[in-house]
Amino acid sequence: MERVLITGAAGFLGSHLCDKFLNENFQVTGMDNYITGSPKNIAHLKSHPRFEFIEHDVTKYINIDGKLDYILHFASPASPIDYLRIPIQTLKVGSLGTHNVLGLAKAKKARLLIASTSEVYGDPLVHPQTEDYFGNVNPIGPRGVYDEAKRFQEAMTMAYHNFHGVETRIVRIFNTYGPRMRLNDGRVIPAFMGQILRGENLTVFGNGSQTRSFCYIDDQIDGIFKLLFSDYHLPVNIGNPEEISILDFAKEIIALTNGKSKIIFKELPVNDPLQRCPDITKAKKILNWTPKVDRITGMKRTFEYFKSLSDEELYKTQYKNFDKYIKK
Ligand code: UDP
Repeated sequence: MERVLITGAAGFLGSHLCDKFLNENFQVTGMDNYITGSPKNIAHLKSHPRFEFIEHDVTKYINIDGKLDYILHFASPASPIDYLRIPIQTLKVGSLGTHNVLGLAKAKKARLLIASTSEVYGDPLVHPQTEDYFGNVNPIGPRGVYDEAKRFQEAMTMAYHNFHGVETRIVRIFNTYGPRMRLNDGRVIPAFMGQILRGENLTVFGNGSQTRSFCYIDDQIDGIFKLLFSDYHLPVNIGNPEEISILDFAKEIIALTNGKSKIIFKELPVNDPLQRCPDITKAKKILNWTPKVDRITGMKRTFEYFKSLSDEELYKTQYKNFDKYIKK
């Protein structure tokens, strides 16, 4: 039986990856330090015979007994609010954490897939974003800690591939959503859905003309899985190319949920990318992958999840430090 290590296993993407690899009959070792992940996301796996969990911070030396065939490095804060709350940890997990998993992959002769991001393109000047675009990133802006850590991560991964011959894969993940997102992580879907459930107004930043393209979790996991088992080592975008402005998106969510909320406008955060849409030509060609879940279907499933949360979770303080993020 093949064994996979998933870092960030208690996070949104990580926990869905654990489910996927268990369903595909792998032995799964999950690792997380719970800084942004939640034990709740993997509670259902506790007594699974092929799942084990190690609570550990991947920026510290990683010790794994026995063989490893694959490693998926998904540990990282992933929302602009978190980058401000825990900037140093964000930088460390993308840099030191990546160095550790690369060393582990080399020692175990395992194939490593790292979670990169559309943020490597920054506020893009090329649209839609193709993998050969180098990006437009502000290293010292509020998102710099994440963007630059992920860019370093890619450079380090390519160096281990080229210099040490480690088998590596790089997925550039575009906005992905679904059940198990953290309600208070500040990102637009949990933010809007939480606001609807609390009967608050929806906070659109700027005039809402900035665009995003949202990929449902099942499609994202399918793309990542296919990439891992492909023989392609250069970065591949995985995301849904259906682009929508944030204002239209806010309207769509209100209509979809029969919400009574109104839209209010707030200042646009610093360095908020104005346009984002993946070019997925490569993923189509190399992985034979396209997203299958349309936004309305995905949003309905996600809203059901948020509806199922307790009042305590629903009313947990949001937006701590948020002013810092908005201020120029
Ligand atoms: N956004 C918004 N209202 C919110 C939260 C986010 O208008 O309450 C906007 C944000 O400014 C950005 C987009 O929604 O343009 C997506 O933000 P998110 O934090 O989800 O992720 P990003 O793609 O910016 O990393």
